[in-house]
Parts: sequence; C-alpha cells; structure tokens
Amino acid sequence: MSPQKQPQSRNPSPLIDNFGRPITYLRLAVTDRCNLRCTYCMPPEGISLLPREQVATFEELERLVRIFVELGISKVRITGGEPFVRKDLLPFLEKIKKLPGLNSLHVTTNGVQTARFIPQLKKIGLNGLNLSLDTLRPERFYRIARREYFERVWETFRSALSYEIPLKINCVVQRGVNEDELAALASLARDYPVEVRFIEQMPFDGQKRPIHNPVQYSEIEASLKTAFPNLRKLPRTNGTARLFLIPGFKGHLGIIGGYSRCFCSACNRLRLTAAGILHTCLYNKNGVNLLQLLRAGASDGELRKTVFRMVTSRFANGQQAEAASPNAPQSSMASIGG
Ligand code: SAM
Ligand code: SF4
Repeated sequence: MSPQKQPQSRNPSPLIDNFGRPITYLRLAVTDRCNLRCTYCMPPEGISLLPREQVATFEELERLVRIFVELGISKVRITGGEPFVRKDLLPFLEKIKKLPGLNSLHVTTNGVQTARFIPQLKKIGLNGLNLSLDTLRPERFYRIARREYFERVWETFRSALSYEIPLKINCVVQRGVNEDELAALASLARDYPVEVRFIEQMPFDGQKRPIHNPVQYSEIEASLKTAFPNLRKLPRTNGTARLFLIPGFKGHLGIIGGYSRCFCSACNRLRLTAAGILHTCLYNKNGVNLLQLLRAGASDGELRKTVFRMVTSRFANGQQAEAASPNAPQSSMASIGG
C-alpha cells in the first residue's frame, strides 16, 4: 500500500433509510420566531415561543450540519419561523456553504426583511430562494398574513430576480381565500423565470384545527388545466412538487400534495427544528433532541449514531407517521420548519 494519504471521500457513508430511500436533504429551522402571522400557520397572537436558551446557537447548528453533511446530506434548506428575523444569519450561511460535501444551500423566506440581504446571498453563492407568496393583492395579503407587508415581499421578488438567484414561489392554496387567484399567480411563471408551486394546506396551524374541505392536488391541477389548456406534466422527480410546463412560459409550475402525501415513497428529507429536534417525517411528532445530546457532551460519533438510528427507523409514509402519534399536540409549521 502506498503510504500516501488517500483523499477523503466527502460522503463516506450515504444515509439510506429502512425503505431503501437515500436521505440527502436537511431542512433546518433556525428560529421559531416570525414577523408574519399567516392564518394557515399560527393563531393571531402567534405561537408560544421557545425560550432563547433552548434555541440552538449558530455554533451548535454549524456542528450539527457538519455531522449531517459528513453522513451524506448534500442539500440544506434554511427555514423557520422566518430565518431573516434571526441576527447574524448571513455569517452562518457563509460558513455552512463552505462545508465540503454540501452541494446545495437554499433558504425559504416570507420576504419581509429579505430584500436587503439579496446581494450578500448572491455573493455567498446561495443556490436558491423559496419565497412565500399566496396572493398578488395587498389587501388579501393582509387577510392571510395579518400584516401589511406585501410591498416588501414584492421588493424581495424583484431583487432576487435581478440578482438571478434561482427563485421558487410557494403559494398555500386556501379554499375561499385565494383559490380564485391560481391563474394570476401561475402567470408569474409566464413573465419571469420562476417556479410557482401551489401547496395543499396542511394541518399545522398550531391550533389543532382540522382543515375542512382543503383544496386538493387534483383540484389545483384541474383549475390550472382550465386556465392553461396547454399545461403539460413533467416526469416525476424526487422532489415533493409535481412539475408542469406551459409552452411559452419562462418558468414552471408545481403542485405539492402535502396534505394528500403523494410523494412519500421518494422522500429524501430530514427536519431539524430550532430546538434541535430531529424529525424524520413532518407528520410524526416523536423526534430526538440532538441539541440536548450535544449539550450533554455527546461526541460526533454518538450524534452520528443517533441520526443513523432515526433514519433507519422511519415510517413508510406520512399516514403511518401520523397514526403513530395521534394525540400529539398540533404544531405550527413555524416550529416544524415547513
Ligand atoms: N417563514 C418562512 C416562509 O413563510 O417562507 C419559512 C417558514 S414557513 C413555515 C415554510 C413554508 O411552509 C412556507 O412556504 C409556508 O407557506 C409553508 N406553510 C406554512 N404553514 C403551512 C400549512 N399549514 N400548510 C402548508 N404549507 C404551510
Ligand atoms: Fe411566518 Fe412562514 Fe408561518 Fe407565515 S408561514 S407565519 S411567514 S413561519
């Protein structure tokens, strides 16, 4: 054997779950705080927030992300709460962007405070921004988000486009609220190189309220087909969105069946909440608190083993995951990370 040091493999032990699904994607909530109060996500008074000392510091998050990346995670999405309400987010993003093996760094934001950070996000090489936008009408924006910040969100939209950061629009479809605006929102993809994704409303508004008669995937598809008869479905990818093309459009459309849970067989994601709790499914409430383990002195190896154990005991799908914790309190998407 040559005594020469062999180059280290970047992802030496790819994570594969107990159903053979490769796990390559981590959604990381850096805060549970938010500057909006979207009706589908939380009550008007907001959610009860984590005490600050229970929120992972950026140093702790950096260590955890490094461990995930060493295990085979190649894509990280920063989410929340609203990530940009947390101070010093940019230096954190800059650091994790440089982790060897992390190919793709994304942020999901409501866009309220994001516009001024766009030049820096471009500079650090952010791979994509998901911007939540449920309506193009300012008065309706207020009805949905309970704050008058439409103009600021629109400024983020314009700025991300002008800096050519790959942009996706997340639109939660609510019956009787914005279901009449699907064609107008979809037209953003006609005029701009963006992917507009319509998301089924999921039961995570922090209030344990079932959703009565949600607008489901098939209805969204039918409504888009009526507005755009040339709508063409693209082959399935391993993402949650089913993608569509309309000839002549600069961007794409997508539908995310988060309520119907039609993508579980290809689910490649893990979630880490702002409290450091690892969840292997959005619909299962039983996570493991990695932050507590880390603070109790767990070594990297011990943390890796815990992640591996969680990954190899996943549920087959969201229905089974939900059934396994039926009496769990209904969380807000702001604390789960979307
Ligand atoms: N605050 C940021 C934002 O709104 O983009 C990031 C966190 S938010 C929880 C992440 C995503 O979850 C957003 O696109 C939001 O629209 C979506 N979301 C929140 N509550 C939801 C629900 N009940 N059903 C479906 N999507 C939801
Ligand atoms: Fe805040 Fe995002 Fe939840 Fe809206 S969806 S309340 S912006 S965390």
